Amino acid sequence: MVQVEVVVIGAGPAGLAVSLNLARAARTVVVCDSNRPRHAVTLRSHGFVTRDGAPPLEFRRMGREEVESYDEAQVWQATVSSIVPEGTGFLVTGTTRAGETVSAQAQHVVLASGLVESFPKIPSLRQYYGTSAHSCMECDGYEYKGSPIALIGETDDVAERAVLLSQWSKDVVLLTNGADVVSDWWQERLAERGIRVDTRAIRDIEGEQGGFLTGVRFEDDDFLPRRGIFVRPTWTPSLAFTAGLDLVTTHDGLLAVDNEGRTSVHGVWAVGDITPPGPEQLMIAAGAGQRMAAMINRTMLGLS
Ligand SMILES: Cc1cc2nc3c(=O)[nH]c(=O)nc-3n(C[C@H](O)[C@H](O)[C@H](O)COP(=O)(O)OP(=O)(O)OC[C@H]3O[C@@H](n4cnc5c(N)ncnc54)[C@H](O)[C@@H]3O)c2cc1C
Repeated sequence: MVQVEVVVIGAGPAGLAVSLNLARAARTVVVCDSNRPRHAVTLRSHGFVTRDGAPPLEFRRMGREEVESYDEAQVWQATVSSIVPEGTGFLVTGTTRAGETVSAQAQHVVLASGLVESFPKIPSLRQYYGTSAHSCMECDGYEYKGSPIALIGETDDVAERAVLLSQWSKDVVLLTNGADVVSDWWQERLAERGIRVDTRAIRDIEGEQGGFLTGVRFEDDDFLPRRGIFVRPTWTPSLAFTAGLDLVTTHDGLLAVDNEGRTSVHGVWAVGDITPPGPEQLMIAAGAGQRMAAMINRTMLGLS
């Protein structure tokens, strides 16, 4: 069992930025990461200044190496299974890939474990996710500028997302896969922008095996040729391991935090995609992580 000042759970941009800046504040930190980032499926990540187009795994590798270069920091590849209050702090326990149990004790714990996505039930969607099917239009919309694209979504915010998508292409079709989620008011707004709404049930996405999609096949056998698809998943925080803590969540299931990232449990902080308000992007997660490191350091000095 290792004793440190802070344990960080998750080595995405949020957790890495917290850890790097805590180490630079001469704070001892252990980072536990299961190394299953949501964006691993994508070839390139966009919009992070100086790293536009960088492969996400390369981005994380560089971040990990930067953190590990400090004597104060250790990065463990381990999946955390529990956090329990112990004394005036917390005991964090996890398991490495080799099945070894590891644990660390700390006054402060940072949750930076990201989100898990659930998709509309379309058999081959995951096969194209990250190459020609995407969820984040700010991240990948530019690559489809002027191309025929579809937005697939079954939630009541899809009309608004279709309008956003029309910034990149004038050929956008909104597919609701049988869901009745576009009001008459929105139907008119979308028609004004040239966005067609198709509510038919989708049988599957078609394309080259392991490559790029060519379009959408409906249950009635009709085919809609498309170069790219944006999908609206639903997101839930990856937080099963916090069952031992009485954490308050927001109405949409994210962790409720104050302006500085404190959760409802004293000493437990949360940052990155698992906290509102987004948008869910690399630089925003990293920026929030850097700010949180300063807040934790100030708190430990009795200044906040
Ligand atoms: C397909 C895709 C493409 C994207 N493209 C872009 C892009 O181009 N540009 C952009 O700005 N944003 C992009 N994003 C969004 C971006 O990836 C996220 O906003 C960002 O990674 C969030 O950072 P985070 O640190 O909060 O969480 P994550 O990056 O999700 O990291 C969370 C980490 O916590 C770990 N973890 C989870 N549970 C545990 C546990 N129990 N124990 C230990 N570790 C755990 C996970 O393995 C993971 O490594 C994309 C997202 C997806 C899904």
